[in-house]
Amino acid sequence: MAHVGATLQELGIAPHWIEARKLVAHREPPSLVVAHTGLAGREFLLTPQAAAAWLSMQRQARADQITLALVSAFRSVARQREIILEKLDQGLSIDTVLESVAPPGFSEHHTGRAIDIGTSEDSALEEVFETTPAFQWLTRCAAGFGFRMSFPRDNPSGFVFEPWHWCYHEDPV
Ligand SMILES: [Zn+2]
Repeated sequence: MAHVGATLQELGIAPHWIEARKLVAHREPPSLVVAHTGLAGREFLLTPQAAAAWLSMQRQARADQITLALVSAFRSVARQREIILEKLDQGLSIDTVLESVAPPGFSEHHTGRAIDIGTSEDSALEEVFETTPAFQWLTRCAAGFGFRMSFPRDNPSGFVFEPWHWCYHEDPV
């Protein structure tokens, strides 16, 4: 996290912008485990507690005839920087990028407790996920496994509505 300030400056993200958006800094966790090995051997990392919670939630969903797939899990601060640089290279403005991507150091994915869920591993993360039986199941059952949707409509952080993004919290709701 030592280089977050320099990284923000490099990307053109002003400190007052972070404050205005009320973004919370997130640290990488001390330990991560492989929660799932996906297509092409891709490893999805989570904290041990979040991995266990995810696997039991997925198992219960399957028993209810619902397929939940991990689309993304832990993401490092360094990777977050690369993602933003790639989008800037594509010609997007930093303001546009930051509507859907958190600045490095401020993504919940850094914690190893946040996951993006789809109906398959290669699902596009789009608002239409809200209309799926999987999302209805999550709305009903995810809290029982410690997962909460982080970015509902009109969230205070100003992110777009992300029905696919859920975060494991150890404290009960
Ligand atoms: Zn996410």
